Amino acid sequence: MIDCGEGTQFRLQHFKISHFKIEYIFISHLHGDHILGLPGLINSMNINGRRKKLTIWSPLGLEEMIDKIFEVSGSHIDFEIVFHIINTEKPEKIFDDNHIEIHSFPLDHRMPASGFKFIEKGRLRNIDSSMISQYNLSINQIKAAKFGNDIEFPDGTVITNKDITLPPKKLRSYAYCSDTKYNDNIANYVRNVDLLYHESTYLDHLKDKARERFHSTASDAALIAKKANAGKLLLGHFSSRYGDLSGFISEAKQHFENVELGLDGNKFSVNINHDENEF
Ligand SMILES: [Zn+2]
Ligand SMILES: [Zn+2]
Repeated sequence: MIDCGEGTQFRLQHFKISHFKIEYIFISHLHGDHILGLPGLINSMNINGRRKKLTIWSPLGLEEMIDKIFEVSGSHIDFEIVFHIINTEKPEKIFDDNHIEIHSFPLDHRMPASGFKFIEKGRLRNIDSSMISQYNLSINQIKAAKFGNDIEFPDGTVITNKDITLPPKKLRSYAYCSDTKYNDNIANYVRNVDLLYHESTYLDHLKDKARERFHSTASDAALIAKKANAGKLLLGHFSSRYGDLSGFISEAKQHFENVELGLDGNKFSVNINHDENEF
C-alpha cells in the first residue's frame, strides 16, 4: 500500500480488499491526507487478530506519531511493526528481493517527501516446450535452462541456452509521485517507467497557487510523463474545488496523450506498451 489517507479503511472494505494482505506500506510524507488512516488501519488489524509483521517506510517522524497515539489510547499492538526511515534528500534502493526492487526518490514539497518506483525483476527465461521432448530434458536440466545455463549431456554433447529457451518477458515498472511541485529531476528518477502516477492538484488557471503550495497542475504532471518517456500517466490528488475533472484530462493531453484519472476503485494494469529511450 502506498500512503494511507483517512478514508482508506472504508475504501478497502467497500472494494472487499482484506487488510491481512497488506505486508508493506510506503508513506510519501507526513501530511494528514497521506497518513491519518494509518492508526485506524493498524488498530483494526490488531483487533482482527493480525500476528504477521507489518513493514512501513516513511520519512522521519511517523513511528513517534504512531507510538504516541497507541500510548495515549492505552492500546497494545500485538504484532510487530518495523519502521524504516526514508532519506528524502537523495534516491535510494529501499527494498530488493527475487521479484521486485523498490526505490525512493526526493519530491519537491513543503515538507520532506519521497516518491517510489517499483521495478519488476528476475523473470526467468521461458523454455521452448518442444525442446523438452526433443532432448528428453530432466526437471533439473529444465530448471538450469530457465536460469540461463547451457545443458551438457553425459556423452559430452552441449546444447546452448539460446537454442532451447526464449527470452524472459520484459519487466514492468510503476512509479508514484505525490505530493510535489513541478521538478525536472523527477523525470530522471522515473525515466521509462511503464505506469506513472503523478499528483495534479490544480488546473492551469491556478498554476501560481500550485507553485506556492508545492503542488502540480495536470500540465506539470503531463510534462514530467513526457520528459520521462512514461508509458501511461495516471492523475490524482485533485483539489476538492473541482467537481468536474474532465479539465485534468484535456490539459494533460496537450502534452501527453496516454493519460487517465486515477479515481477510487479503478484498476489499472501495468503494461509494457512503449519503447525505452536513452537519455
Ligand atoms: Zn502534502
Ligand atoms: Zn496530499
